[in-house]
Amino acid sequence: MPASLARPGYTGRFAPSPTGPLHAGSLVAALASWLDARAHGGHWLVRIEDVDGPRCPPGADQVILAQLARCGLLPDQTPLWQSQRSTRYQAALERLQALGWAYGCACSRKEIAEALLAQGGAPERHGELVYPGTCRAGAQGRAPRAWRLRSSTGPQDESHVQITWQDRRLGSQTQDLTLAVGDFVLRRADGLWAYQLAVVVDDAEQGISDVVRGEDLADNTPRQIRLQQLLALPTPRYLHTPLVLGANGEKLSKQNGAAALQLDDPVLALRSAATSLGLPPDLPGTSSGEWLASAVQAWRLLVA
Ligand code: GLU
Repeated sequence: MPASLARPGYTGRFAPSPTGPLHAGSLVAALASWLDARAHGGHWLVRIEDVDGPRCPPGADQVILAQLARCGLLPDQTPLWQSQRSTRYQAALERLQALGWAYGCACSRKEIAEALLAQGGAPERHGELVYPGTCRAGAQGRAPRAWRLRSSTGPQDESHVQITWQDRRLGSQTQDLTLAVGDFVLRRADGLWAYQLAVVVDDAEQGISDVVRGEDLADNTPRQIRLQQLLALPTPRYLHTPLVLGANGEKLSKQNGAAALQLDDPVLALRSAATSLGLPPDLPGTSSGEWLASAVQAWRLLVA
């Protein structure tokens, strides 16, 4: 391995939400994170992100693990299931509450929409409303339903939080968190943990040094960096991989009906994922093991 790429302490991960089997797009993220870990002489972990239980059909986690194994992508440790980690997320929430960053919110979605309308508009991103701050100073005697993170610079200060970060592929990125996202949810009204909190707690606890995942998640990174800052956790390096688009030009996702991966010939599936990552289409190898070994060499050249 070129000495410049070996990085002691490198730990990467693939963190699928088991809402269905892997599709061509999720294999790209799995492969990229595996290749990057191997290219740096690091460890590669798998975390099953099943916090949103109702959206995860029983057995989908095992299907995903079997699909990864079929492709030769084997984690270096037993996978972690987020559904078993509530006490860790609760501890992080309590810390944010104690520091004055997390507050209880009693508003329903309808009330939020109405308050935004009364303010003259309804800022929204990806179907999520930017919270108007109704309960920031207290839920006015109403029982809190959800817990939110204060997105301004201080519990008593309303200045905007700007997050700037360096993505290994996308370059320098900046987001005005207060304006673009607002006070985001940590624990939902239905009691489920929000992805943002769970991912930050787990990345830190698993010692993740490098997050490699699809570009559709890039927009979540500033929220995660903010939580890392407030919980005094390290910020990993980030690399967001190109999205795989379906025939209709939309990103492949389980929500828009992407087909489960065809794995009769795993090398074929890996080759197609590799092409989306900008690797040569004709890497040598007839078994997944052989092919992965040549892909690691090619990935080294790509990211060196
Ligand atoms: N669980 C997320 C998903 O499947 C990915 C989380 C992450 O990589 O940070 O979209």
